[in-house]
Amino acid sequence: MDYQQEYDFENRIMDTHQIPEDSIEAETDNPLRPKTLEDYIGQDKVKENLKIYIEASMQRGEALDHVLLYGPPGLGKTTLSQIIANELGVNIRITSGPAIEKPGDLAALLTNLNQGDVLFIDEIHRLNRSVEEILYPAMEDFAIDIITGKGQMAASYHLPLPKFTLVGATTRAGQLTAPLRDRFGVVLRLELYSPEELSTIIERSAGILGISIDKDGALELASRSRGTPRIANRLLKRVRDFAQVLNNGNITLDIARTALDKMEIDELGLDQNDRRMLEAMIKFYNGGPVGIETLAAAIGEEAVTIEDVYEPYLMQIGFLQRTPRGRCVTAEGYRHLGFDFGGSNGQPTLF
Ligand code: ADP
Repeated sequence: MDYQQEYDFENRIMDTHQIPEDSIEAETDNPLRPKTLEDYIGQDKVKENLKIYIEASMQRGEALDHVLLYGPPGLGKTTLSQIIANELGVNIRITSGPAIEKPGDLAALLTNLNQGDVLFIDEIHRLNRSVEEILYPAMEDFAIDIITGKGQMAASYHLPLPKFTLVGATTRAGQLTAPLRDRFGVVLRLELYSPEELSTIIERSAGILGISIDKDGALELASRSRGTPRIANRLLKRVRDFAQVLNNGNITLDIARTALDKMEIDELGLDQNDRRMLEAMIKFYNGGPVGIETLAAAIGEEAVTIEDVYEPYLMQIGFLQRTPRGRCVTAEGYRHLGFDFGGSNGQPTLF
């Protein structure tokens, strides 16, 4: 991917998207990815339901119904899809919406599956229309119709497929077309993780990577990880460097604080990008409401990045509100950034 070559590592430590460092691991079987439902920390509701569905389908000897996982990036959708295949004892093929360019690409993937296999399509909302149309009968009837040749030479073949399970992942369920969404029997939403859950993930990752970390140090990292395991693991690796140079490798509360402050990640996990966005809203738009496209232009970011990466966490901690007229910074957001809240941004005030 081109964007990876130009990636600004320093500024993007808090980005929830995969950066080369993560993807190298993904290719070489990332040791930090849990392999079973039991090892997968948090998301209890999702796990409970999945466990039942997996067990039931195995008892019946049938393929698991198609599963749609949605939620912000870095919360464990890819990990969960691998766990599903692992728990079912089947193979998994991994691809993504933008990678499947032509109907023929999808047909090739589908015809190579074995009975019960999992096909994982990341960013499934980005499938193009002609590919998506092949997916409908594949999901519903386990068959595809392929047309070869043109004009009088055209011929149509009906190809039966093995019964497989499609696991789709998306950051934006709302962008899925209705016919695609309706073909998923199981729809699961992943939530941001609590600091306690992230702390457990950090301690688990530290154990795997041979990093020594105190409970307080882990909790400090966790509470600055924006509810996202991918960020928690990334921070752990960066803070390890500080610990190695400054403290014989042990991550204590003090070391964690020093390192995170040096990386300009504040006590709530906000980085320069979050602060820059909130500040722009306060200074230029009186705290909002401001439309997403206007905001994107003002801070030189793409609207999707704002929606997928910045907003979920800022809304979760109550710094940002979405209203029909646009985004608004809340009183808490003003306070955190050191501004007085005048209540002039369209939100109700008492006085
Ligand atoms: P997504 O596909 O949603 O972007 P990933 O599945 O790639 O997210 O997860 C990002 C990283 O976070 C993984 O490498 C994994 O190590 C870690 N991770 C995600 N969810 C969990 C979890 N529940 N428990 C432990 N580690 C997790």
